[in-house]
Amino acid sequence: MSNEHGLHARPAARLVAVVNAFDATVSLTDLDTGRGPVDAGSLSMVATLNAQQGHRLQVGAAGPQAAEVLAAISDLAAENFGDTPAEPTATAGGSGLDVAIGPAIVVDAEVDLSGYRPGDDEPGRLDKAVSTAAGELEQLRDRSDDHGGIFDAQLAMLRDRKPRGEIEAAIAGGTPAAAAWKQTYDRLARTFEGLDDAYQRERAQDVRSVRDRVLRILTGDVTAEATDGILVVPELDAATAATVDAARIAGIAVRAAGTTGHGVIVARSRGIPLITGIGGVDVPAGAVVAFDARTGSFELAPDEATVRATITERQAEREQAAAQADQPATTLDGRTIDVLVNVGAVRDAADARGADGSGLVRTEVLFGDRRTAPTVAEQVERFRAVADALRGKPITIRTWDIGGDKPLPFLPQDHEANPFLGERGLRVFRRRPQLLRDQLEAIRQIAAETPVHVMFPMVTTADEVEWALDELGSRPDGLEVGIMVEVPAAALRVETLAVGLDFVSIGTNDLTQYTTAADRTNSAVAALADGLDPAVLRLIDRVVRKAGVRVAVCGDLASDPQSAVLLAALGVQELSAVGPQIPLVKALLRQTDLTKVPDVLNARDAAEVRQLVRR
Ligand code: PEP
Ligand code: MG
Repeated sequence: MSNEHGLHARPAARLVAVVNAFDATVSLTDLDTGRGPVDAGSLSMVATLNAQQGHRLQVGAAGPQAAEVLAAISDLAAENFGDTPAEPTATAGGSGLDVAIGPAIVVDAEVDLSGYRPGDDEPGRLDKAVSTAAGELEQLRDRSDDHGGIFDAQLAMLRDRKPRGEIEAAIAGGTPAAAAWKQTYDRLARTFEGLDDAYQRERAQDVRSVRDRVLRILTGDVTAEATDGILVVPELDAATAATVDAARIAGIAVRAAGTTGHGVIVARSRGIPLITGIGGVDVPAGAVVAFDARTGSFELAPDEATVRATITERQAEREQAAAQADQPATTLDGRTIDVLVNVGAVRDAADARGADGSGLVRTEVLFGDRRTAPTVAEQVERFRAVADALRGKPITIRTWDIGGDKPLPFLPQDHEANPFLGERGLRVFRRRPQLLRDQLEAIRQIAAETPVHVMFPMVTTADEVEWALDELGSRPDGLEVGIMVEVPAAALRVETLAVGLDFVSIGTNDLTQYTTAADRTNSAVAALADGLDPAVLRLIDRVVRKAGVRVAVCGDLASDPQSAVLLAALGVQELSAVGPQIPLVKALLRQTDLTKVPDVLNARDAAEVRQLVRR
């Protein structure tokens, strides 16, 4: 099993579809966990078997077409279950505006079943509702360019025979169809929520989406389709995000916090204004609401003229920033901050407007589509393509950063109880350095052609730096060497670690999760993992004062213009952001006198930091 996140909902859905196309009974056992055998024709059974990347799966088949189904499964496995590697996505702002106004279209957390009256033919009624839901999902799939797999997975969840059997039994025992459907799908969602893998846990959203689609059909609830305005949802599932009509829906306000769910990613990629984490605020249906994701505000009965003015202003700001993207980001007090682009695909470099180079090439993402390790020559070629796309400006290549939430198909890792605190980044290669050695060879070769910086992720100790420099060996002229500061221990002794280096680059995503002890992939603690927490800013301030070498920031904080200004005011010299945000980051820097940015290090919390900066 080489798929990222293992046999999760989508590859599982493909497997189930293949199994059900044959006249055979197929079972699946995870040999590494001993779980199973489970019915391979049931999505809920397969997905919740929770087979992880690197696990060995045993398939058994019986029945008239046993041999055929085994051959088909073997073909599917050879194609990696049709799984494509996760595409890097913009995490800050997307391409749309971050402000919206309109009447609230409130989708309740629970579909109201109180008015549901059971009829004479409950099984028939459910059948009809399920086939209507299937028709809707098929339409969504066929209209979707990029997210068809999500709807296929939801279709498989909808048609899954295991829960369906339970529901039919409950109906036969006198439970109304709606209640039976709800009970069973609630339980299935809870099973997904209980899985180890954060990505798998988030698939509970898909189960709830399927549950509610059928319940809405059964109860005739059409809330979500009725009007134009701002969609207020408890959580954002991918189907909603991919299909809301952007001409009607001015924006989406999500009660749950968290930015890693599929729905959030899809909405951002569509440029739909989006705010997350508005919480339990009481929003009457139809009330005019407005939000500004930039300031984090969500308002009931806002002053409409003010919001409209903000929208016009933001549009003008984007256009103007884009027109000046190529000019340097020189602040009013005369400091020039380099603003670079984060690259996970050559396209990110090619599309970036105004980038002064790349401050982070995520190599594990750049080669994330590979099932086997790229050769030195292949790596050189792709690095060259990134450098060419940036017209020979410096590129900062980060060595393989795997572990945590980022597995690499060609480097299987042992199961760890706490992967974010385990063998991640540089740590992975202490025991088996060959992959790193090949990469460093590629980096030395490309550095002979074009300006290159190399940096090592997840550094904690001086020993690790010494070891990495030994592995790098002699450097060609011009190859600058640095480390990432993303572990609090590294920030607290950066002066020891940076001896002999050219730069350090602060990875605020990880520095934030480790400082606040809040898993960056867990939406339940997303509010804690705030990069503007003064505790994180104090560490950044310390790094700037003590490092003795150039200090860059390449975490997502640098993609938010106001945070970027704050970082520059703390003394950070270089910022690396997601491409679409670069013009805005540069524009705000140009309008700022950094000597006048308030001191925020003693603020009570991130909210107060935001208040101070806004002022
Ligand atoms: C970071 O941690 O801030 C960073 C830039 O690295 P990644 O997000 O790839 O872990
Ligand atoms: Mg990191």
